[in-house]
Amino acid sequence: MAADVDVAVVGAGPAGLATAIAAAEAGLAVVVCERASAPPDKACGEGLMPAGVRALAALGARELVAPEECAPIEGICYVAQDGSRAAGALPFPGGLGIRRTALAAALARRAELCGVELRWGCVAEGYAAGPGAVTLRTNAGDLAAGVVVAADGLHSQLRRAAGLERPTRAAARFGLRQHVRVPPWSRHVEVHLAEGAQAFLTPAGTARVGVAFLWEKGLLEGPVSFARLLERFPAVAERIAGAAEDSRPRGAGPLAQAVRARTADRFALVGDAAGYVDAITGEGLSLALVCGRALGESLPEALVRGASRAALAPYERFAAHEFRRYALVCRTVLALARRPSLRRRALHVLGRHPRLFDRLIALSLA
Ligand SMILES: Cc1cc2nc3c(=O)[nH]c(=O)nc-3n(C[C@H](O)[C@H](O)[C@H](O)COP(=O)(O)OP(=O)(O)OC[C@H]3O[C@@H](n4cnc5c(N)ncnc54)[C@H](O)[C@@H]3O)c2cc1C
Repeated sequence: MAADVDVAVVGAGPAGLATAIAAAEAGLAVVVCERASAPPDKACGEGLMPAGVRALAALGARELVAPEECAPIEGICYVAQDGSRAAGALPFPGGLGIRRTALAAALARRAELCGVELRWGCVAEGYAAGPGAVTLRTNAGDLAAGVVVAADGLHSQLRRAAGLERPTRAAARFGLRQHVRVPPWSRHVEVHLAEGAQAFLTPAGTARVGVAFLWEKGLLEGPVSFARLLERFPAVAERIAGAAEDSRPRGAGPLAQAVRARTADRFALVGDAAGYVDAITGEGLSLALVCGRALGESLPEALVRGASRAALAPYERFAAHEFRRYALVCRTVLALARRPSLRRRALHVLGRHPRLFDRLIALSLA
């Protein structure tokens, strides 16, 4: 079977578009299938960490982000329920609060400029790998490709179809976000810590702040809503009181997803589809962009070698290494967030030693 294109990417989120841009820049013919009809919105805290900012620039998409849709982030500030706080600086080049629709639009524009074909409203339904190509089945017909990249998010259907899913014993955690129309009052992401839940306030534009909650299953009885979660954070409620809503609430979860591997013959997983721990460290976007870029760059060589699992091994190793570092930091922060006395002591120490906090942040993001 001959391939119509070199690479078929499923999902026009940050992971899929980063892969597509890097692969197209490396000279490959790339098609992206996205089920949404336009660059998609998503439940997200929208804080891009320094590695993600660097990757966005390297992909040529940073300059395409509309200035009013983003805001610089200089650091992270943890706030306890008693009002005590500890702030640390992000390493160079700092972070970026960025509205997801603007991020997706900038990446999509860059992909088009690189020659990627974007198929909106195209739903992937399955795939079958053959000797000379892989067939991606979609609602708009079959597409034969040299390799399929599944960047179809947290609950990836293609990951399941490939048999790469692994059960996880992690506690089920969920996220919900909404935006309010208010000029950001800080250049820090504020992380408010309460029993069983965290609230993230992120500047996400020149006149917008995103409010995202994370919580563990069982925290709330009955229907979950933005208002009910906000009740648990009186300081946040006071801060945004009277501000107009700037988006509809969006939720996601359960967050933890595990994989057996990220590659199979003529198939690769990237972004949330390739495994996820939690959003508490705000690193999913960076991981998606960094790993997507590495995957795209590795594909010409992998295709020359038949895009077998062995040929995709350099990407598998790179992604596994990036994920291990992210997972370690994420699980450590989650463990701290779950233990009130440890949390209080850690915040107290970091509040008194801001340089130590800066160093820890730099190390955890290295
Ligand atoms: C509450 C919350 C807060 C977060 N906060 C942050 C933060 O502050 N900073 C950070 O870096 N990360 C954060 N994250 C994580 C971040 O949102 C994800 O890591 C990131 O979106 C992963 O990108 P992705 O491209 O892998 O997946 P997605 O962005 O989910 O994109 C997947 C795409 O695939 C498409 N798709 C799915 N199935 C199909 C199909 N069958 N056919 C065609 N298309 C399909 C979807 O429509 C979607 O557009 C947060 C997550 C949550 C839930």
